Amino acid sequence: MVKPKLKIIPLGGLGEIGKNMMVMEYEDDIIVIDAGIMFPQEEMLGIDLVIPDINYLLENRDKIRGIIITHGHEDHIGALPYFLPQLNVPVYSTKLTQGLISVKLKERKALSEAKLEVVPPNGQFTLGKFRVEFFPVCHSLPDSIGLIIYTPVGIVVHSGDFKLDYTPVSGKPTDLSRLAQLGAQGVLLLLSDSTYAELPGYTPSERVVGETLDHIMADAPGRVIVTTFSSLVSRVQQVIDSAAKHERRVFIVGQSMSDTSRMALELGYLNAPDGILGRLDEMKGMPHDKIVLITTGSQGEPTSALVRMANRDHRQVHILRGDTIVISATPVPGNEGLINRTVDNLFKQGAQVLYDKVARVHVHGHASQEELKLLLNLVRPTFFVPIHGEYRHLSLHAKLAQSVGIPKDNTFILEDGDILEISPEAGKITGKVASGNVYVDGLSVGDIGPVVIRDRRMLSRDGIVVVIIAVNKQTGKLVGRPDIVSRGFVDTRESTDMINESRDLVFRTLDHSGARPAEWSFINTKVRDTLNKFYYEQTKRRPMILPFMVKV
Ligand SMILES: [Zn+2]
Ligand SMILES: [Zn+2]
Repeated sequence: MVKPKLKIIPLGGLGEIGKNMMVMEYEDDIIVIDAGIMFPQEEMLGIDLVIPDINYLLENRDKIRGIIITHGHEDHIGALPYFLPQLNVPVYSTKLTQGLISVKLKERKALSEAKLEVVPPNGQFTLGKFRVEFFPVCHSLPDSIGLIIYTPVGIVVHSGDFKLDYTPVSGKPTDLSRLAQLGAQGVLLLLSDSTYAELPGYTPSERVVGETLDHIMADAPGRVIVTTFSSLVSRVQQVIDSAAKHERRVFIVGQSMSDTSRMALELGYLNAPDGILGRLDEMKGMPHDKIVLITTGSQGEPTSALVRMANRDHRQVHILRGDTIVISATPVPGNEGLINRTVDNLFKQGAQVLYDKVARVHVHGHASQEELKLLLNLVRPTFFVPIHGEYRHLSLHAKLAQSVGIPKDNTFILEDGDILEISPEAGKITGKVASGNVYVDGLSVGDIGPVVIRDRRMLSRDGIVVVIIAVNKQTGKLVGRPDIVSRGFVDTRESTDMINESRDLVFRTLDHSGARPAEWSFINTKVRDTLNKFYYEQTKRRPMILPFMVKV
């Protein structure tokens, strides 16, 4: 009899940074790890965010025992508001993570139906044939965990996002002794975070940022405005601590920062001395060197408080000469342009801006090469799959694994949708399930596909030409030359000759072809082919051509 195998199916986060989602399946049981979003790439025009394709899960809905969330970052929880109404399975996480999930679900009005289960950072629970144990890991926010999953085939360790900070600001250091124990026991498979597999050495401790903040608070002549992710609770804590030390009061600006901080205060993950947090209207009349503002906008998000301040568009806060602005975050790939523009605008208004290239105002939350090697050495897995990263990160992480003695044949670089089947003796990629990007644009989820994106790209590159063909209602004959309207293609005032020539061309073509305007699909194609060729010859551009028929 063939023994059933364990299936590992990444639905997101492999070959890209973001939208992390991993499926583990054994016989009739499925568990899902993380459900994140990805920020859109520059070429995904007009898209708000990207979530994984969960068709595989929808087809196997009955098998899903639960979703486990490793920590509260957007790239791990952000897709829950879209998936929970469809899947309706319990979600397991630590307390702070649950708080962050609740804030997210509330924003999209998906909270009331959700079944959220809180598990302590070293708790255990059973989902079908899987026994799941959390272990604390250090990351850039408290209550982050990795997973030890006992399966009928063997033990699987999932690192979550982690680093090995021995002096974290809040939260626990990564539980290395538990991992060493497991290593001795024998681990079948390790899945480990590859986000910073390119960086040699060790990731610096969060403490470094605390020291920088201290200097800034002491020396800044006026207000200090710190911007970071709202989920970076430990950074917000560092700002409050440092403000307290320098007798500054702290004002939180913006909805998501306020919601998240309130939740973290209530749950006890954020501590503020009495009276240090103020309401914005209390700021009036205070000496500027006694003020600290905390806000979102570290990614240049157009609707964030910082960007509105930078554009003189914020109702309550205006940038003043003498302000010091601290951008305490790493740019998410794809956001660099937006961030640079925001920094420029802030400088223009007379502010001093400190960001990661000019000051130690941020350390990231992921392990560098030496830390990755240490984890591999402690866990000593039979099989290894690098997760969370673009292809080069995964590939470099696989090389690191080989350098510490994991055979090449036991290391699998997977892509989203791959099915890896594992038995105690061997692992093999046996197929592929549906995977890819689902685009969220305004209120619409998923109805924008690659075709719409391609159209938007085409429009943004070479513009659009609308050809209005008038035909006589009775006779069905062409009425004169067609009208041509264009946007984003050529300056119509300067290109009148070419446009006129193209009108003649369409008229002649349709006249000579002998086609009746009733044969619309034929005419449609004919007009597009003719103009495509003509415009390309004239301009070397390919605008989108939209023929249009009106009956007069
Ligand atoms: Zn993270
Ligand atoms: Zn992450």
